[in-house]
Amino acid sequence: MGKIIKVDMLQKKYGQLIAVDNISFEVEQGEMFAFLGPNGAGKSTTINILCSILSKNAGKVIIDGFETGKQDSDIRKLIGVVFQDSVLDGLLSVQENLETRGAFYGLKGAVLKNRIVEVADAVNITEILKRPYGKLSGGQRRRADIARALINTPKILFLDEPTTGLDPQTRVSVWETIRNLQKEKGVTIFLTTHYMEEAAGADDVAIIDHGNIVVRGTPADLRVRYSLDQLRIIPNNNEQFIEFASRRGLQIKPGPGMFTINIENSMQGLQILKDAEPLIQNFEVIRGNMDDVFINITGKELRSEEVQ
Ligand code: ADP
Repeated sequence: MGKIIKVDMLQKKYGQLIAVDNISFEVEQGEMFAFLGPNGAGKSTTINILCSILSKNAGKVIIDGFETGKQDSDIRKLIGVVFQDSVLDGLLSVQENLETRGAFYGLKGAVLKNRIVEVADAVNITEILKRPYGKLSGGQRRRADIARALINTPKILFLDEPTTGLDPQTRVSVWETIRNLQKEKGVTIFLTTHYMEEAAGADDVAIIDHGNIVVRGTPADLRVRYSLDQLRIIPNNNEQFIEFASRRGLQIKPGPGMFTINIENSMQGLQILKDAEPLIQNFEVIRGNMDDVFINITGKELRSEEVQ
């Protein structure tokens, strides 16, 4: 397989501001890589440099063997990019938009027609090819945007917040489309997102904050390293339960009608439940999730104010 993206000590400054501060990471061919971070962390800057749209100040970026800044036209042939804001023409039909894009890559005639049929099928927009792009729903537009990015059969698809602003159901279906491209067509996916449940479905995650990569790993790794499971207990008798906890040296956090205990793992929880059983009216085990990981690492919720 091998590393299809190699980033070494990448730095980008805007005047005095260091937007990307000497970051290094690699992406495996064929994987889905999620690049996360709070607003202003440096995600878009990084993705734009990787796509050879933006120049860097220092460091080296190799995309499938080609170096940004030196072999940009080779890089552009092998990548597809979906920007946050669409670049398709609202007055043209989806088909016409795709034809224009295909022509840009030198495709024409039957080859272009066939390629449009293929990409339309891959993202499930065959039925809406004749409709003006401007009249489509949010989810349909996103699919058409992805189709545009696929027209040159890219090895890597870059997606900058592909599901932002879509309703939850549409988000799930666009996400599945992206997942299928990875699984069935073998496209390497590099995406930024601020939906943690999406990051949880990626193969590999990097979290960037203030221009630095603060953590790397698989979602499962990160959950183990940066989140704790919780045991929530509703006791029969608060005083007796508090006494039990203090005898055992357990840190308990009182909440409305219950107590929360951070536990290392479910087995530790089971032992506590066994020992405290006569004192317990009800309980619940809450598994740590990617939201906890993000909050524990960055001290912030992931752009929660923008999430609808
Ligand atoms: P993200 O995509 O994670 O929200 P960005 O890469 O857009 O973050 O921005 C990183 C930092 O660089 C932010 O502080 C942002 O204000 C700044 N920045 C981004 N683009 C420009 C620009 N064109 N000129 C000056 N500062 C910029």
